[in-house]
Formats: sequence, C-alpha cells, structure tokens
Amino acid sequence: MTNVMPPAASTHPADSRPHLASPDENPSFTKGLFLGEIREEMVFPFPALSAEEKENLDAILDAFRSFAKDHIDMRKHDHDGRFPDAMREGFHALGLMGLNIPEAYGGFGASAKVFNRVFGEIGATDPALAVYFGAHQSIGCKGIVLFGTEEQKQQYLPRCASGELVAAFCLTEPGSGSDAQAMKATAVPSADGSEYVLNGTKIWISNAGYAGLFTVFAKVPVDVDGKKKERVTAFIVERSSPGISLGKLEEKMGIKASDTRSVIFENVRVPAANRLGDVGHGFKIALEILNSGRLGLAAGSARGTRAIMNEAIAYAKQREQFGRPIASFEMLRRKIALAAAECYALDAAWMLTAGMVDRGGVDFSLETAACKVYASEMAYRASNEALQMAGGMGYSKEFPFEQSVRDSRIMLIFEGTNEILRALIALMGLQQPGERLKALGKALQDPIHGFGAISSYLAGRAKSTLNKPDFTKVHSALADEAELVASQVHALGRGVEWALRKHGKAIIERQYVQERLANAAIDLFLATATLSRITAEIEQANGDLEAVDAELDCARVFVHMAYRRARRALKALKANQDARLDAIAERAVEAVDLAPPAPTDR
Ligand SMILES: Cc1cc2nc3c(=O)[nH]c(=O)nc-3n(C[C@H](O)[C@H](O)[C@H](O)COP(=O)(O)OP(=O)(O)OC[C@H]3O[C@@H](n4cnc5c(N)ncnc54)[C@H](O)[C@@H]3O)c2cc1C
Repeated sequence: MTNVMPPAASTHPADSRPHLASPDENPSFTKGLFLGEIREEMVFPFPALSAEEKENLDAILDAFRSFAKDHIDMRKHDHDGRFPDAMREGFHALGLMGLNIPEAYGGFGASAKVFNRVFGEIGATDPALAVYFGAHQSIGCKGIVLFGTEEQKQQYLPRCASGELVAAFCLTEPGSGSDAQAMKATAVPSADGSEYVLNGTKIWISNAGYAGLFTVFAKVPVDVDGKKKERVTAFIVERSSPGISLGKLEEKMGIKASDTRSVIFENVRVPAANRLGDVGHGFKIALEILNSGRLGLAAGSARGTRAIMNEAIAYAKQREQFGRPIASFEMLRRKIALAAAECYALDAAWMLTAGMVDRGGVDFSLETAACKVYASEMAYRASNEALQMAGGMGYSKEFPFEQSVRDSRIMLIFEGTNEILRALIALMGLQQPGERLKALGKALQDPIHGFGAISSYLAGRAKSTLNKPDFTKVHSALADEAELVASQVHALGRGVEWALRKHGKAIIERQYVQERLANAAIDLFLATATLSRITAEIEQANGDLEAVDAELDCARVFVHMAYRRARRALKALKANQDARLDAIAERAVEAVDLAPPAPTDR
C-alpha cells in the first residue's frame, strides 16, 4: 500500500512554532466570560478552511474512506480485542500517523482544523482506532513536536510519522490518576549527568503493546536551597531499552482493540539527551499535550454522535409499530432533533477552538476542556438514546448500538475526567477575577497608594458588571439569541464576583459552586461558537435565511437550551440544596449505605 495522502503541503501557517496555549500570557475567550466580558474579536469571524486545506482534507478523507471500506471492521475489532496487523500497516501506509507532525520531519503538517476533522472521521469509523491514532499523535509523540530539541525531532519524528515507531503517553500510575503530581516514578541522574535511571509503574497506557516509543513523566530529585525536592520531568524512552516490561492486556468495557496495559520501568537508563524540556517542566508539558488531545476527542465524539444517531434514524424509519414508522413518534423525533442541535453546536465549538490553535497567541486551554466535557457527555448520551430508539434490537450485538454505548463511555474518563476538567475550568476562570478582588482588598487598606488598583478594578467592574456585555458581530437574525447569551455572560460575571466574596480562598473546596460556574461557562462558550458559526453561514448565503434554515433551526434550539441551563446553574449559586446534599452524602459515606432504609427494610 502506498501513501495516498496528497503531497505534504504547508496547511499549517505556523509549522515552526509550537501550539502553546500559554495560559499565563495569552488572552482567553472563556476566561473573559468569568469577568462578564464577551471578547468578540477572539471568536469572530468563524474560522474557515483555506482552499488548499479543503482540497487536502477532501483527498485525505477520500483515501481514508476507501481504505476503511475494505479494511476497517469495528465490530470485528471489538470482538477480537485487537487490530489485524495488516490493517495497522495499511493505516500507517496512508500516511495518517504523521498527519500533524510537521513536514520538516516527514509528516503532513496538517492544521488543527484539518487534523481534528480527520480525527472525527476515524472516530466515527472505529473509536478504538481513534484511540490508537490519538494516543500516538495527539499525546504520544506530541511532546516531541511541541517541546523536543531539533535533534530529538530529527531522531524520532520521521519514524513516528511513518508508523515505524508507534508512540504512547505514560502519566497515570496506580496511586496517581487525577492527582498526577502525586506520581512515584523517579528518574535519578547519574553522577556524570549523562543519563537518568528511570523506575516506576505506569498504568492504563493506551498503545502500550504496540508502542516503540514512550513519553514518560517521572520525578527528578533536585537540590533547592540545600533542601531535597522532586520535580516532575518528561522523558522520551525507547521501548527497546533494557528494563521495560509490559503488564497483561486490560480487559475493558469498550474500545477493546485499543491495546491498554501497564508499563513497568526497572532501572531503565535514559540518555540525558532524551529529557524533554527542562527538569521540573514535566507537569506543564503534560498539560499542554493533553490540551491538544482533548480537542481530538471532542471532534471524534461529534462525528461518533452523528454516525450512531444516523444508524438509529435509519432503523426508526423502517421499523413500524402501531401501523407507522417509529420515526414518526414525537418522543423519538425529540431525541433526534436535540442530538442534531447539540452536534451542530459542538462542531462549531471544536472548529472555533481549532481555529484558535492554528492562529496561535491565544490561550485555548479552557476551550479544549469545555469541548471535551461537552462532547464526551453528548456522545455517551446520544449512544444511549440511539440504543433506546432501537428498542430490544438496540440491546442486541447484531446492531452497533451496544458497542457504541460501551465505546463512548471512556471519553468521560480519560484525558482528564470530566469532574477534574470542570474544576479546572472553574478555578482557572476564577483566577483573574480573584486577583482583581485581592488587589482591591489590599488597595482599600491603603487607598492612596492603592489608587491604581482601585481605579483599574472599578474600570473592569464598570465594563463587566454595571454594563451588560453585548454581541455586535452576530447576524441580526439571531439578535434575540445573542441577547440571551449576553444576559448570562453578565450573570456569570456577577455570580463569580458573588462567589469570590462569599467563599474567598475556600472556593477551592466549594465544588458545588465550581461545577455550576463551569457548566455555565461551557454552555456559554458553546452558544457563542454557535452564534459565530451561524453568522458565517448566513453571510456565506448572502443573507438568504431560507438557504440556511436547517442550520438556523439547530442554532436557535441549541442557544435556547444552553441559555436555560446556564441560567439555572447561575441561579442555583444562591438558591440551592447544597447543605442538605452534603449532609446526605456525609451520612452515606460514613455508613457506606446510600439511603435511609426502605419501608420494607424496617
Ligand atoms: C481505557 C483507558 C485508557 C487510558 N489511557 C491512558 C494513557 O494512554 N496514558 C495515561 O497516562 N493514562 C491513561 N489512562 C488513565 C486515565 O487518564 C485515568 O484513568 C484518569 O485520569 C482518571 O484517573 P483514575 O482512574 O486514577 O481515577 P481517580 O483519579 O481515582 O478518580 C476516580 C473518580 O474520582 C473523581 N475525582 C478524583 N479527584 C477528584 C477531585 N479533586 N474532585 C472531584 N472529583 C475527583 C474522578 O473524576 C473520578 O470520577 C487511561 C485510562 C483508561 C481507562
């Protein structure tokens, strides 16, 4: 099989610069929402594919689809729990393993827009293959693309691009999952500094059995002011290094053909030249890598949702009950319509975020997290609804629905669980408003010297709190929807300020509050992406609303849905049952018994 991708073209405008979100330096749209601001210039105009990107994307999708028709059988992969070697070789030969590796290192250098669209296609064809593809490229060798030295890139990326070296990402350990910083793996430098000795066990490693290369995170001992400390650091480790062994294949609920195992490192000697980034930069590197992984997962979930709902629609169209196709019943039509509106919004959100990644100079970390959370929950919900639409047949292995429920479930867990990502969105979003309030508190103690802080706080407050923010770039046909979203951005800014005043630093422990703020921010980001997308589509149709009525319906339904959810979440900041919830949970945890005895138990 030959590489059928179009000749590598510079589809990425900035091949040479890393796609860093750089949360500390760059502006963020979603962080602005926490200040009650709509940073419209960051989300308008909606990104578009260039003619070259479109041409390349079409060629890549055609090549992949024609390969998939004959070689990818997701039900067989699920049944066998592995990919046939010939399928993997054929997939590699397509050139897809280097899709977002820069051209200079043998890859295709696809933009984030193109890469994630292809990711989506693979996800809809076989989610396990998407995990193989993502574990390799989105996270496995992404660290080398983003942070590798020239020598590291030249040494490894061409072989990653061809598929000769399959990559894996080793962060999770038995005692450290969500709390990655608690890792135990160590990398101790040799006396002459020429190498590190790596010890530790990593678990749940996707691609472990296929991998020739691992990006591994371990703690390096350092001396800080005479005190011994440990700093998380990243390394590139070759599978062929002595001292590496693999655990048994995990028996999983879904994505069964994706090879997941533990990887054990025992006195593995890693050349110092294989350290990725500086000592102590490992955690930041891991977060940056996961930022890109999350977007692929979102694009894959969007296409997966579309694919499984299309199966359900086809089934419901031919299945008759009560003398008519079940697709004519409103309870099923509602499921179809809501999934369509959500899919429309999610496609808008991941594409808008991919545009930010391509543009650079933007902090897109909250946007990728928002896309991942929404997409994973949508895909799992849609798979369940699709199964429900097929009734008993939905439960049968003859149909793809049960596999889709199993395969989509993992998306809520890996690359940051949705709980952790909600906390991350809220706490990162709260940082700037918190700093403003803190500066104000200090300044009020010394108003003369603190005059600058007071006036900048008041200026910010005047902008975000007293004046409701507005959209000025949304097409007038969506004026009502824009108004609804703006009203909740205003409410979010005020809710943030109220929550910070009420809880102060203790907000770190107030996850009921964090979850509400994060949910509102996720919905408001998706609603904004929807407004940006529909505005571009109306403009493309030269203002002919009838030409885009399918898009308009989806956009309107989603924005109203997101508005209602955001409003509910923000109102619940003040009016809620949190104290009771806490008491109930406390009793259940204490007794390890969920609820008071049932009447029959007494
Ligand atoms: C199929 C599969 C493939 C994977 N692939 C990889 C891979 O390639 N590389 C890799 O490094 N890892 C991988 N993982 C690991 C995955 O990233 C972790 O499972 C995930 O990060 C959660 O960690 P944990 O399983 O230890 O759960 P825990 O951290 O123990 O969490 C358990 C539950 O508690 C919640 N929780 C934990 N802390 C908090 C908190 N502070 N606030 C609120 N809720 C909290 C979590 O959200 C979750 O619901 C994979 C996992 C699976 C199942």
